[in-house]
Amino acid sequence: MVKAVVGANWGDEGKGKITDMLAGQADIVVRFQGGSNAGHTIVNDYGKFALHTLPSGVFYGHTVNIIGNGVALNVPILMKEIESIVSRGVPKPHILISDRAQMVMSYHVLLDQYEEERLGKNSFGSTKSGIAPFYSDKYAKIGFQVSELFDEDRLREKAERVCVQKNVLLEHLYHKPLLDPDKIFQELMEYKQMLLPYVCDVSAYLWDAVQAGKEILLEGQLGSLKDPDHGIYPMVTSSSTLAAYGAIGAGLPPYEIKKIVTVCKAYSSAVGAGAFVSELFGDEAEELRRRGGDGGEYGATTGRPRRVGWLDCVASRYGCRIQGTTDVAFTVLDVLGYLDEIPVCVAYDIDGQITTDFPVTARLEKAKPVFEKLPGWKCDIRGIRSYEELPENCRRYIEFVEERIGFPITMVSNGPGRDDIIYR
Ligand code: GDP
Repeated sequence: MVKAVVGANWGDEGKGKITDMLAGQADIVVRFQGGSNAGHTIVNDYGKFALHTLPSGVFYGHTVNIIGNGVALNVPILMKEIESIVSRGVPKPHILISDRAQMVMSYHVLLDQYEEERLGKNSFGSTKSGIAPFYSDKYAKIGFQVSELFDEDRLREKAERVCVQKNVLLEHLYHKPLLDPDKIFQELMEYKQMLLPYVCDVSAYLWDAVQAGKEILLEGQLGSLKDPDHGIYPMVTSSSTLAAYGAIGAGLPPYEIKKIVTVCKAYSSAVGAGAFVSELFGDEAEELRRRGGDGGEYGATTGRPRRVGWLDCVASRYGCRIQGTTDVAFTVLDVLGYLDEIPVCVAYDIDGQITTDFPVTARLEKAKPVFEKLPGWKCDIRGIRSYEELPENCRRYIEFVEERIGFPITMVSNGPGRDDIIYR
């Protein structure tokens, strides 16, 4: 069976932890989109890890870990990541990389930085990992696919063609050093050497795996609201964050995705710019940020403080719907144990009209949150393993949210570890 683990919100919902947990029963874990710009934090017997490109199955000896064609593949970062986990005692994982994946080039990273510099205060808050220039090039058909590394004559000619185009921008828009086609070719040859042991016809591999009845887990990055089509455009990421894209970014038949586990966080957090209706500021925000996640709400890749707010049921309901959710994993609930009362955003007020439908960006920017307050449970719920043992007010919070978002919460996560989970 094919399952997807995806985010309901702005990312950082705890997908890494849920994937790591579900990977215990999976034969194959596939990353299908995104790049090294975001990261998953995973806590397990080997320690605490921030993964950027590697699938969250890498900590199990029995899983095959796949980088699908939909991923923005930063080869040196991936190699460093493999080294870094192996050097900390994790057995060398079995990794396959799609021959149809495209590579993030050093100039993508530079162009990302230059563009954010140029935009100044209007910047997107990009992590400057080259993701937007990478996907732009992919769709402009000037990206480099892994398979192309094996035809050096064509590759050399293409490197020259790409440099002509990039150098116009570098010279006239950014006033930065120009690209040298020989160096770009060299860079590609280095990537080829690094990738050789891993290259695979992934869609064929997965087709056979499906026929053989293997358990396959698709791992998404970021969340619904960062999807370029259905999210808060233009403050979105550059590849689809939706489970549906899992079929494309891995190379699987769409009808094989039977279970869509959407990870929804018990409060809100976001990185980067963009509308965030239930956002908190000042001391209240600082306290939630400090207590949040596992050691505070700071980006796994960038270390940037995340923006935080109360749970937004309007955004989460939409986020779950657009994913095609079959199961909600409700995470980081333990963090809220310090509060006397917990506000939850249940509707938006847009120009005096109350709505529970998530609007397009122009209207979203005008939305004000309508809060309802629920009583807190004022205790530490970590370590609890059965739903009935949760304090009554905690169960009330879960059931209130479940009703508002309209999808079944079948898992509640009450700590960062693999076993900190309550099934309902
Ligand atoms: P992802 O990108 O969706 O995988 O999320 P991140 O890894 O960026 O952020 C989730 C953070 O919350 C990480 O530090 C996790 O270790 C932590 N985390 C995940 N689930 C829980 C939970 O139930 N409780 C607590 N306290 N932390 C959690």
